[in-house]
Amino acid sequence: MSQDKKPAHEPLAEGVVFHAHGVTKVYQMGEVQVHALRGVDLDLYRGEFTVLLGASGSGKSTLLNILGGLDTPTDGHVYYGDRDLTRASERELTEYRRYHVGFVFQFYNLIPSLTALENVAVVTEIAKAPMRPEEALQLVGLGERLDHFPAQLSGGEQQRVAIARAIAKQPDVLLCDEPTGALDSKTGIVVLEALQRVNQELGTTTAVITHNTDIAQMADRVIYLADGLISKVQVNETRLAPRELKW
Ligand code: ADP
Ligand code: MG
Repeated sequence: MSQDKKPAHEPLAEGVVFHAHGVTKVYQMGEVQVHALRGVDLDLYRGEFTVLLGASGSGKSTLLNILGGLDTPTDGHVYYGDRDLTRASERELTEYRRYHVGFVFQFYNLIPSLTALENVAVVTEIAKAPMRPEEALQLVGLGERLDHFPAQLSGGEQQRVAIARAIAKQPDVLLCDEPTGALDSKTGIVVLEALQRVNQELGTTTAVITHNTDIAQMADRVIYLADGLISKVQVNETRLAPRELKW
């Protein structure tokens, strides 16, 4: 974490949820330094659906992990509302992750011995104002699968349980790292529909990492990363429904 003096911080612009400024991440691998992020400036807006695109190794996961408080930058600042995540203590970051952020990863990380309902309830039990686990599962189209164990569900269904688990605590932001990476296109589309529904019905600010350029068409905004920097930002005037995507 940077040791520079605390900068005077202006209030975030209207509608801005995340304000990242000069975010740098260097991994020290023995003698070698890996520059994963080289000074990223980025604002994410309340309620928007963003897709992060870029080649493997371009820094997508590192950026998402920093936004989600799973990792801290080497330099730069990340404001979430009026708090600077780069100056938060471990305890504050835990609180931030627990109450404000939902994560979805490529592999679903469900607990095999718990049903779909129980996997979601694990999270709602420690949340402040959760929705009912049944409700979260209904929102992702799994209202009929509550008592199924992960092994009795398809990959796409398991990923939708993971989405239900992530959103059941009603997080402000949902961060998804290659959520369709392990799925065939048909199943992936159903998962993307669940994400779109959550974004539209709950207004959850959503960022989705993918290396599939076709998925970008369902986003409000597409952020392109290349070699640790944002190379392009594209605003989509119209968003396609997941069902209209082809890949
Ligand atoms: P992406 O998600 O776009 O594939 P990453 O953010 O995972 O990219 O990685 C960016 C760069 O940082 C890559 O060169 C990767 O090897 C390196 N990197 C990521 N995580 C670590 C780590 N924990 N230790 C060392 N190097 C890492
Ligand atoms: Mg990655």
